[in-house]
Amino acid sequence: MIAGVLVEISNKNVDRIFEYIVPQKFIENIKIGIRVLVPFGNMVLEGFVLTISNNKTTDKELREIMDVVDSEVVLNKELLELGKVMQKETLSTLISCYQVMLPKALKAKNGSSVSIKYDYFYTFNNKKDNLKRVGAKQQEIIDLVRKKGTVSRQELTDISLASLKRLIELDVLIESKKEHYRLDYDDVEYEKKDLTFEQQNVVNQVINNFCNTFLLYGVTGSGKTEVYMEIIDYYLKLGKTSIVLVPEISLTPQMINRFQRRFGKRIAAIHSGLSVSEKYDEWRRICKAEAEIVIGARSAIFAPLKNIGIIIIDEEHSDSYKQSDPNPRYNAKDIALIRAKYHGASVLMGSATPSLESMARAKKGVYKLLELSHRVNGKALPDVNIVDMNKAMKRSKGHFSEELLDSISDCLNKKEQIILLLNRRGYASFVSCKNCGYTFKCPNCDITLTYHKSSNTLRCHYCGYGDRNPVMCPSCKEASLNSLGLGTEKVEEELKSIYPHAKILRMDYDTTSRKGMHKKIIEQFRMGEYDILLGTRMVAKGLDFDNVTLVGVINADTSLNIPDFRSSENTFSLLSQVAGRSGRNSKEGHVVIQTFNPDHYAIKLASKHDYLSFYNEEMAIRKKLSYPPYYYLCSLRISGKDSSYIYNEALKIKRSLMRNLKTVSVLGPSSATIFKLNNIYRYNIILKYKNIQEIYNLLVKIVDHYKVDNKIKIDIDFNPSQMV
Ligand code: ADP
Ligand code: ZN
Repeated sequence: MIAGVLVEISNKNVDRIFEYIVPQKFIENIKIGIRVLVPFGNMVLEGFVLTISNNKTTDKELREIMDVVDSEVVLNKELLELGKVMQKETLSTLISCYQVMLPKALKAKNGSSVSIKYDYFYTFNNKKDNLKRVGAKQQEIIDLVRKKGTVSRQELTDISLASLKRLIELDVLIESKKEHYRLDYDDVEYEKKDLTFEQQNVVNQVINNFCNTFLLYGVTGSGKTEVYMEIIDYYLKLGKTSIVLVPEISLTPQMINRFQRRFGKRIAAIHSGLSVSEKYDEWRRICKAEAEIVIGARSAIFAPLKNIGIIIIDEEHSDSYKQSDPNPRYNAKDIALIRAKYHGASVLMGSATPSLESMARAKKGVYKLLELSHRVNGKALPDVNIVDMNKAMKRSKGHFSEELLDSISDCLNKKEQIILLLNRRGYASFVSCKNCGYTFKCPNCDITLTYHKSSNTLRCHYCGYGDRNPVMCPSCKEASLNSLGLGTEKVEEELKSIYPHAKILRMDYDTTSRKGMHKKIIEQFRMGEYDILLGTRMVAKGLDFDNVTLVGVINADTSLNIPDFRSSENTFSLLSQVAGRSGRNSKEGHVVIQTFNPDHYAIKLASKHDYLSFYNEEMAIRKKLSYPPYYYLCSLRISGKDSSYIYNEALKIKRSLMRNLKTVSVLGPSSATIFKLNNIYRYNIILKYKNIQEIYNLLVKIVDHYKVDNKIKIDIDFNPSQMV
């Protein structure tokens, strides 16, 4: 017997099947989709069995499989096929496509450190009657087991393990084991709300139209999550499973709790707060069909569920569904459509601010458009005040306008809560010299360092490089360093000095990086232990607090100033999302947006909650500039250590593209926004095209041509989420 194995090295040169002989002792255990250990050159590698046959296809002498890693299939037939489609569509290696589908615990490096936990049980062997020579301790165990029937290891903690072992050896006791999952879901009561007429209408549309793709455009607080749960419930009753994708940032304990209160143990929630072992346990519950609803971020789209009925993609406009680095650069929405087709399932994408691409498709009738235009509480969307900071800064010194300060005081007096958004963590964005203008940059990346006051360090937010905050300018040797810009830490300090009695909670990457902190912060705020929740975009998404009546945006301009054709769209959706956190229940809400660009259409229209006008205005701009959704984009990232070598190759690539693609515009090569990252230089070439057929074959050729050149790396990104 011959097995075809794909080894775990993501390198285009070895990304194909290698044949191995299956020794007699493994013949029973070899299955397609399990992992094996094989000799490879002078290494021993893990690999996936992709084919099994009786005859080899080469004249070469084959080596033998050394061991079998899994007893159960880890990649089922559907996922094996899906990997091949992904490989084609993303031009990455097949092995990298399989690797993203599996939990980290199954990566070769982690294999030994993560194990399955078991509970052990003992019963009496009735066939055994020869019990003459047992000691007192052993007799004690026997008596207990006889009395109870089955005894668990925990119940025997006082008893010596040696006696227990001996009884098993003597065949007096039979040991059995059952998997012990590290996470425990309470089997809580079934909680369900009566849907509004509008909600029920959306549910009916979805369940009455099988195998469709829907876009649900529903304002914040319109009860989209309730709609999702009702649809999932419908499919559960038909014996079908569901996947719910949410951006990691809104995969909050609050969100998971809502699903758990309704579906109890039938859910598996996969999020970054879990350890590698916990994720592994969740994955195995899914494999064994013990969990029927999977909630998770991007990679949960690969959950090995069988018989899927519906795939829901919440906050569908979020760029987190696109993996932009490393390969494979896939979009979970594309994968959702492929899997839905395989299962005969529907896809439901929801958002209060749908991406232009999705809305354009819905308007063309490619997706079915569904709407929720009212908030469940019957209240209007909150009032939004735009404050022109050009004027406000003349009157006040700090980063707060009088308008925002008045609103905060008012809210504090009424004992209501406040959410403040500042889209940048740290203390100040950068440190520079007042004398010569020198700014501190990361030595590995082409990026200014951010000052963190609590640790008094300058840190790189890309590679993690850290440096003690210097007192002297390394360039002109003057001691005149100055912090510019603004971060969450700095604003927290300013707030504390203005409102010494207010209780302020900060939520950003730094305060939530420890396990469990995210959950704790949200819980403390919900319980009313704090008045103000100050944070980065983490506070904008998915949170639902009764008592929040004021949302303040301290700097609406940060996302507007990012050099990306989507910056207006991203600003509009961020402002709409964060404004939607206010006044969600019985109390009226209010929003204050501070900006230096008060006349910008994205900011003005967000303040009026006018998505459709924004859509029309932005579409006109995209059309004029030939951007998506009128054209598709593809970016070629050319990177390497030697910047002049890769630049010359980039020019060659560009010439070849221009020569061969008459109907496609070719831009670049230009240095990436972050030109140097971790000591690797990066150039981009951008293609604007109408039809993938125009460019695909040529890109395959280019990638093939460079796969033997280890001084240069070519990565292809179709429909990139960011222009970096
Ligand atoms: P969205 O996801 O559209 O922002 P949610 O699903 O979070 O909205 O709903 C907003 C709030 O309204 C939540 O507190 C939710 O529990 C509540 N809610 C949703 N639907 C109903 C309903 N039919 N009856 C009562 N409350 C509801
Ligand atoms: Zn760096």
